[in-house]
Amino acid sequence: QQERYQSLRDKPAMGLCGTEVKLHMNAGLMADLPSLENSGAEGVGLFRTELQFLTVSKVPRRGELVDTYAQVMDAAHGKRLVFRTLDIGSDKVLPYMNPLDEPNPALGWRAIRVGLDKPGVMRMQLQAMIRASQGRTLTVMFPFIAQLDEFRDAREMLLAEVERERKLGHILPEKLEIGAMLETPSMVFAPRQFFEMADFISIGGNDLKQFFYAADRENERVRRRYDTLNVSFLNLIEEIVDRCKEVGTPLSFCGEDAGRPIEAACFTALGMRHLSMRPASIGPVKSLIRRINIQELRACINDARLSGEQSVRSTVVDWIARNRH
Ligand code: PEP
Ligand code: MG
Repeated sequence: QQERYQSLRDKPAMGLCGTEVKLHMNAGLMADLPSLENSGAEGVGLFRTELQFLTVSKVPRRGELVDTYAQVMDAAHGKRLVFRTLDIGSDKVLPYMNPLDEPNPALGWRAIRVGLDKPGVMRMQLQAMIRASQGRTLTVMFPFIAQLDEFRDAREMLLAEVERERKLGHILPEKLEIGAMLETPSMVFAPRQFFEMADFISIGGNDLKQFFYAADRENERVRRRYDTLNVSFLNLIEEIVDRCKEVGTPLSFCGEDAGRPIEAACFTALGMRHLSMRPASIGPVKSLIRRINIQELRACINDARLSGEQSVRSTVVDWIARNRH
């Protein structure tokens, strides 16, 4: 199998009908970057920045972050690289932060909420990203946006930092792309301006699913209870695809489900054109996509949705077994 995946490394994730999906990888450490070459990923669709904060005993200094981010960018060799700003709180608790006594941490003061209310650390992080870019493209994504103003404010904070760096006479990024993670159901129904304002949107499926089904992603009793291929969830995904298409905003999916071949094929069939996953999933996902007709899979999903089944999984699994070339 491994050899087969390796032989696909430089081939596109293109279905038999010609539909192509770009496969990117998720990362969080400098040590992940060699996988960019080995896996055949087209870029880093999600660089989680928490680890540099979680593995030390105090808040890292800006200079340290500049070095780390510059090394990561060097290692990406010009391929797309999406930095996500700090997503702490809930399951990701900083050892040097006073633990918050919150009844529901997943619904609590976390991620962008902390970044906007106490902007010191996020500002420093943004400055470090700008300084690390030095004439290159800087792509920043804000996590856990739950209403339009949160994205607007975070975006303005980044633009203000760019302006500040300009006044200080520092070399600016050659290009700036600012995106949002869509991980709360509220944003599926956000004003059109949200979709227009974002340079790109990435679905954080792990969180989106937990909030959509009201099922804690950390709780073993419920985390696998609701299927990603449930008609309700697929309808939600399709709505997001349509809203992004309406205004021409690029959309990706970067939760764990993107790395599951059947889920990835279904997302592609619903119109998703970028998926980001752990590097080891790229081979298996690409392998399946290349063996099926994505347009026909779409028709199969549509039939299953109309049949009244709760999940399209069994229909899709049967269809793949019969129609995989
Ligand atoms: C997600 O929620 O799907 C996601 C990619 O972010 P994280 O898993 O880091 O919350
Ligand atoms: Mg998330």
